[in-house]
Amino acid sequence: MTTKKLQVSEQISYLTELQCSGCGSLYSAAEVHTYCPDCQSPLLVNYDLNTARRHVDRDEIHSRLKGMWRWHEVLPVREAQNMVTLGEGDTPLLQLPRVGSSLGLTNLFVKDESGNPTGSFKARGLSAAISKAKELGIQKVIIPTAGNAGGAMAAYAARADMRAMIYMPKDTPSANVIESRIAGAEVILVDGIISDAAGMVGIKAREEGWFDVSTFKEPYRMEGKKIMGYELAEAFDWELPDVIIYPTGGGTGLVGMWKAFDELEKLGWLDNTKRPRMVSVQAEGCAPVVKAFEQKAAFCDFWINAKTIASGLRVPKSFADHLILASLYESSGTAVAVSDASITEAQKELAKAEGIFAAPEGAATLAALKELVRQRWIQPDERVVLFNTGSGLKYLDQQG
Ligand SMILES: *Cc1c(COP(=O)(O)O)cnc(C)c1O
Ligand SMILES: [Zn+2]
Repeated sequence: MTTKKLQVSEQISYLTELQCSGCGSLYSAAEVHTYCPDCQSPLLVNYDLNTARRHVDRDEIHSRLKGMWRWHEVLPVREAQNMVTLGEGDTPLLQLPRVGSSLGLTNLFVKDESGNPTGSFKARGLSAAISKAKELGIQKVIIPTAGNAGGAMAAYAARADMRAMIYMPKDTPSANVIESRIAGAEVILVDGIISDAAGMVGIKAREEGWFDVSTFKEPYRMEGKKIMGYELAEAFDWELPDVIIYPTGGGTGLVGMWKAFDELEKLGWLDNTKRPRMVSVQAEGCAPVVKAFEQKAAFCDFWINAKTIASGLRVPKSFADHLILASLYESSGTAVAVSDASITEAQKELAKAEGIFAAPEGAATLAALKELVRQRWIQPDERVVLFNTGSGLKYLDQQG
């Protein structure tokens, strides 16, 4: 589908190797790797961007068939037949005129990820991860999830004819359980939250040889999510917006977009290299990044008794906490915690004023924006992008 315009002579991916974000060690991208065995940090994917810069044309990419894989030169799959796609990516960047004017903002946008397969932006990451797993010959995948990553993994694993096993909290929205099981995944409901599920997955993976697709414990989910950064650059005519407000759980999209901006600069595709200020939004009941940011710390403490209606934000400590915080500091960004009540309020407002039924995580970005406007952290004419990371339709259990 997205490969229609691929010619045989064309280089599909400029992938080179994996590099540890902690100690810098290099690892082969032709072998199965998880995270750095020496320093337990996430591995990042490198590309030969110098060569890509000479051969890949941003305007030609624009003319390709829509979808995440039109950016295949900066994605990790070497053979087109291994791209496992359900039509993810190229989500709309919508202006929010009514919400914007009520806040005195003239350039407010939402990147609306709710139209992705399985109703959330997790589709992007899992499309990349399952595709690369297929290319590496992996046949069974396992994941701990707050919900949407499990549903997405189940769908892409089904499409790739892989076995899937999913550990999720027993109070995960029922849509996530149903979508996973109907796609043939084995779902285990855990008495606890994602961090408890992660422990069980680690044991199961080691004992039975399942490949663990946990956030940042494999290198490729972030590569799918980073394409949101490429899409934004293209939508803003090869400049970047002033502020990006991102609901942060594991931080895949935040760290991924920050990496994308580096790559875009190295590719020479940005007409203006001014970077956005990155904002992490979390829930008051689970705000490890906000707490660490306020203390100017390099890592997060594990958040005890994590609790919020925004299930995707119920992540007590990200495996990439250091990378999340680094992107906030480097971008002169900030971190904001919002209450569940303000999330519900913002969810209603987005639906009523703009027709967007956002996931609670997505609505949290509007709640945070209000706080930042109140603090005058955002100027009236700045270009601000909220991320609606999923559809409100996946959380109907919570609607009273
Ligand atoms: C997973 C998830 C998030 C958090 O995304 P990260 O990239 O892991 O920080 C936000 N919103 C929704 C709807 C999610 O499913
Ligand atoms: Zn390392």
